[in-house]
Amino acid sequence: MIVMKFGGSSLESAAAVERVAGIVRRALARKPVVVVSAMGKTTQQLLTMGEEAVAGGPGENRSLERLRALREMHEREIGALLPASSQGEFRRTLDCHFREMADLRGQLAALSEFAPESVDALSSYGERLSSCLIALVFPHFGINAAHVDARCVVLTDARHKVATPLYSQTYARARDKILPLVSQSKVPVLGGFIGATESGVTTTLGRGGSDFSAAIIGAGIAAEEIQIWTDVDGVMTCDPKLVPDARRVKTISFAEAAELAYFGAKVLHPSTLLPAMEKNIPVVVLNSRRPDVSGTRIVAESVPCSSVIKAISCKRGIHIVNIRSTRMLMAHGFLHRIFEIFSRAETAVDMLASSEVSVSLTVDDPARLGDICQALREFSEVSVEKHQAIVCIVGDNLRHTPGVAARAFGALQGINIRMISQGASLLNLGFVVAARDAEKTVKLLHQEFFRSADPAVFD
Ligand code: ADP
Ligand code: ASP
Ligand code: MG
Repeated sequence: MIVMKFGGSSLESAAAVERVAGIVRRALARKPVVVVSAMGKTTQQLLTMGEEAVAGGPGENRSLERLRALREMHEREIGALLPASSQGEFRRTLDCHFREMADLRGQLAALSEFAPESVDALSSYGERLSSCLIALVFPHFGINAAHVDARCVVLTDARHKVATPLYSQTYARARDKILPLVSQSKVPVLGGFIGATESGVTTTLGRGGSDFSAAIIGAGIAAEEIQIWTDVDGVMTCDPKLVPDARRVKTISFAEAAELAYFGAKVLHPSTLLPAMEKNIPVVVLNSRRPDVSGTRIVAESVPCSSVIKAISCKRGIHIVNIRSTRMLMAHGFLHRIFEIFSRAETAVDMLASSEVSVSLTVDDPARLGDICQALREFSEVSVEKHQAIVCIVGDNLRHTPGVAARAFGALQGINIRMISQGASLLNLGFVVAARDAEKTVKLLHQEFFRSADPAVFD
């Protein structure tokens, strides 16, 4: 058994869905379980539609128009792949989902708030719809598909927009719902990104969460491999949108890939590797437009590599919080007090630097920053700097190669580096720079570290 996850860009058009069907058909002997994202940019459209509906005024009409355009896109791209015999069921599926979305939109327009439960309810429709439609299309391409509602499999807590799966129950449900279908030679098709609480309320796993769904399901059914099919050749030495000549990394360890994902490599949702690591299931990242390229194999151990780093990540939207307190000078318990405040606000800290009287740290989610600063100001001076980015170089060899920091600093002359951190894992070296310098920072580091790269690991 393998899990095959297809992202939004792999499902954006009739031609893309047809390519996906070909890829799944060629894998039938390996007993695939398919996890799909919403088609194209549907999730973003749904979220924008919700915001417009809540805003009211001219937004109201725009939200109606957006919903109409979404229906048209699904109707056109999927309709083109279905014969007359399936058109009736196709219409019924569209009618039912779009009626519910229209009802939700109407309810939001009557409210003044787009609450997290509503965000999840609305954004879940992208995957709910795509999974039904793909299951409808597959039989016409020789695939005996069976739709499974992912909300009956992925059980989560009630933290809307960033729900966490309850692993043991989810694994048990995955086995119960999926294995019988596979043993009947069916190909289960599930939507990624979505789950439900014990009481059946729809939740989502966070933007980009379909990768995570694939890994959870793969771990639950003890798949031999989890495949993430996307729009690039694999994990690359950095985002190819920033550096077009980024190279493909043929193989990388779980720990290295997890670090990259956490620090901004969008190709994998940050939590994807946890379930795979725990069950030691290889994750393979592949390009649905170039299925013959062998992609990136993510496994427990990294192979010997003469290059110092494997890749560079970049995470924007970072805020630096500077906390200064002369009164607390040398006092024990200062950091404890600070972290307690962040912990109460459920806000993760990515990087930290301290001096005798001050601490600087970075957060990527500013939602609770107002409350946090207010609490910190009770015992310190606080300032916040917005529009920052974290650029990380990542690789197992960083642990035992001297002089890497000097090389990085040499390459970054002229860039104002605001903070530096050698990750506790010893797998990464991170730099905080102004967001406007991020692209240049990535390019300079890429030039320095990948001028010549070990052909055993890089394409
Ligand atoms: P999908 O819709 O398939 O989930 P995403 O857009 O979420 O695809 O992720 C793929 C994108 O991740 C690529 O198009 C690329 O721009 C971006 N990306 C960022 N860092 C990397 C990296 N190191 N390697 C490959 N892709 C990366
Ligand atoms: N459709 C969701 C998103 O756009 C989940 C995913 O694609 O992984 O965030
Ligand atoms: Mg993604």
